Amino acid sequence: MKPKREPSKRIGIFGGTFDPIHMGHLIVASEVRERYSLEKVIFVPTARPPHKRCRLFASPQDRLKMVKLAVKSNPHFAVSEVEQKKEFSYTADTLEYFKKTHPGAKMYLIIGADNIVEIKDWHQPERIFKLAKVVAVRRPNYVLPPGEDRYPSHLIFFPGPEIDISSTEIRKRIKSGKTFQYLVPERVAKYIVENGLYSVT
Ligand code: ATP
Ligand code: MG
Repeated sequence: MKPKREPSKRIGIFGGTFDPIHMGHLIVASEVRERYSLEKVIFVPTARPPHKRCRLFASPQDRLKMVKLAVKSNPHFAVSEVEQKKEFSYTADTLEYFKKTHPGAKMYLIIGADNIVEIKDWHQPERIFKLAKVVAVRRPNYVLPPGEDRYPSHLIFFPGPEIDISSTEIRKRIKSGKTFQYLVPERVAKYIVENGLYSVT
């Protein structure tokens, strides 16, 4: 008797600066996970060099810590530090890494609408599209291109809800002393306050 072939696992990869991680990121990851039956979504904070001497941005360590705090309660979410070691990481290399650590898994790279046009200018986009399906998620104020002529089978337009939250807006709110409660998980809000992140004092 032929052994039954196990359906291959699917994993989501979600990169970002997460400065800070917010509910938009978490809702998107959760919706995409459910829609494509992903085993898990791996959040990959980039090690964008900190904007030196500028307290309006958080350090890579603080960003990583906040991502860890944010995903802690969800067994389907994980965090990878693969991009922490290098100042700049190419998405293609990161995907290659996950291909090795998750042999046989189908990869779904999650990106927001603002990245759709940019992705073609990323390092070796063909390699990215070869390694993963790219799930493009809508964002308010970003008009999605109607179709994808060059990489049609690799770009999936996710039909989920648009969530009007951005890290930029959260940083602005904190700087101006406005409330940011409910825009980030409670644990993250606490971390931001306790460490005085994003304030200019
Ligand atoms: P910033 O305003 O600092 O650029 P951001 O909110 O865009 O922050 P990033 O860390 O830059 O967050 O985003 C990581 C990934 O998540 C990107 O692909 C981005 O497009 C996507 N993303 C962020 N917020 C949303 C949202 N509200 N809806 C859909 N995608 C989002
Ligand atoms: Mg962004």
